[in-house]
Amino acid sequence: RAKSLGKARYEVFSMTMRAQTIALMQMETELRRAAEREEFLVYYQPIVDLATLKMVGFETLLRWQHPERGIISPGEFMAVAEETGLILPISWWVMAEACRQMQRWAVIFPRSRKLRIGVNLSGRHFQQADLLPNLRSILAETGFPAQRLCLEVTEGILIDNKEVAIATLEEIRAMGIGVSMDDFGTGYSSLSYLHRFPIDTLKIDRTFISALNSEESSATIVHAILMLAHSLRLQVVAEGIETREQYRALQALGCNYGQGYFFARPLSARQVEKLLARQSLPPLVRPSTEEDNT
Ligand code: C2E
Ligand code: MG
Ligand code: MG
Ligand code: MG
Repeated sequence: RAKSLGKARYEVFSMTMRAQTIALMQMETELRRAAEREEFLVYYQPIVDLATLKMVGFETLLRWQHPERGIISPGEFMAVAEETGLILPISWWVMAEACRQMQRWAVIFPRSRKLRIGVNLSGRHFQQADLLPNLRSILAETGFPAQRLCLEVTEGILIDNKEVAIATLEEIRAMGIGVSMDDFGTGYSSLSYLHRFPIDTLKIDRTFISALNSEESSATIVHAILMLAHSLRLQVVAEGIETREQYRALQALGCNYGQGYFFARPLSARQVEKLLARQSLPPLVRPSTEEDNT
């Protein structure tokens, strides 16, 4: 009896495994097809100077325009993209596309010429020998200035080989490219060697910002991160600002930059064009909504 129970349990387990494997393989096939059919899009979320409320740049965020399911966010496919390595070519495509787009906008909207763009890279990029050559060729091919490009990386890139990752970051910085530590505060504690990271910006993770006005400990943590960052001469971006109260609190704490639905959602290229076409760059103070892409 015990034996048959065990067998039944094994079958249930293997069925789940099988279903999961099939789902993973389907998603992989779909992602490859999406790349071939050019179904990926770059969205641009404004980053704002909290002292002036002027837009200083964008973070580029990947979207998948699925023929049946509409616009899909990375949360639904990032795990598979990471696991299969598809995140490598997809992220390079995002970077090249964003640089080309910024160069087109520079011609039409002179005021966009000072804006910077942040591009997310995964930990996997730092295990590849083509990281620096790819960066160089994208900058050379698009003519986009290195000084206006910023790579967003997480502490995860330091897990495997810290020394190699740090050396690579140093070369990136020597090219004039900025480096942001993304989702700061959620990874493995890097406080002890933060001063050794060749980075120029910290992005405080959304979890601290969303609890800012409800949990006293969050305000304390954000305050401590700001003191630490500023003493290391790092700029700070607060991620996921959704309310006026959060924005006010961060401004009062001396946080340099902010990003979040309170200012603007991630925008399609067309929506960015509408923003750039206005007489002056608006102080982005009203919450806006993510419209469809038509
Ligand atoms: P991330 O780099 O931390 O990006 C910020 C995420 O927060 C984005 O989610 C953005 O849409 C979301 N966000 C911004 N403001 C708010 C807010 O006020 N409230 C809330 N609730 N969320 C806000 P998204 O676009 O779904 O991207 C998720 C993650 O996927 C990114 O986190 C990044 O790690 C990854 N990712 C996105 N695009 C790329 C890419 O091109 N390459 C790579 N390697 N990763 C990417
Ligand atoms: Mg990011
Ligand atoms: Mg982040
Ligand atoms: Mg994130």
